[in-house]
Amino acid sequence: MVNYSYLDDNFAAVREEIRAAAEKAGRSAEEITLVAVTKTVDADVINYVHDNLGVNVIGENRVQSLLEKYDKLHRDGLKIHFIGSLQTNKVKYIIDKVDLIQSLDNLRLAKEIDKQAKKVGRVMDVLIEINSAREENKGGIMPEEAETFLDEVLKFENIRVIGVMTIGPVCEDIRDLKKFFEETYRTFIDFSTKKLHNIDSPILSMGMSRGFEYAIETGSTMVRIGNALFRPGSNK
Ligand SMILES: *Cc1c(COP(=O)(O)O)cnc(C)c1O
Repeated sequence: MVNYSYLDDNFAAVREEIRAAAEKAGRSAEEITLVAVTKTVDADVINYVHDNLGVNVIGENRVQSLLEKYDKLHRDGLKIHFIGSLQTNKVKYIIDKVDLIQSLDNLRLAKEIDKQAKKVGRVMDVLIEINSAREENKGGIMPEEAETFLDEVLKFENIRVIGVMTIGPVCEDIRDLKKFFEETYRTFIDFSTKKLHNIDSPILSMGMSRGFEYAIETGSTMVRIGNALFRPGSNK
């Protein structure tokens, strides 16, 4: 039996930091969903944290890797989010396996998700990924194009848009992330008030191991954390 006690420590530390950040922002930690990003760990580790540490949402960013782990996972009560850039030709492999696609950022992909979702008789929940720093070679919709894009996606019958996701740029000084988080928050509020009336609690997925406290301060409702949870011996 592998010794997983470092995971207990990492999860306790991160959850405490989430709680503290929420409290500082005058929010409740219950408003914030923790997505454990499991892209670097195998199915045994995922099962351990699901069975023992109350993890019920995981994030995977590669189709192949998700498929390799999928059959070994204890999936009862486990939600799987796809968080990486998704190639159109791979949608069919995950359409019946994931609960949310966080990274919708182009219409060809939307069209394919709609088509495959229809085939398996479901409506797929998605977040629209915003390229908050307007980085040329990164995924995500430019903030100024987000509303037009949303209008197009809302036309698909087998897709339900439930919020917004952003990654943000790599910043040497992590506080520099704040302005990108703030802009994404404005897009999120705009979407929520104008277009997503039918959604009970729209999602703003923002914040990773470095800087999630700023994301929580800025209104994030979902943080996606990998390293701080799964790296042995440290929580960042
Ligand atoms: C890897 C990844 C994360 C988690 O990043 P960490 O720095 O390990 O916390 C979050 N979101 C996406 C889209 C990722 O690919």
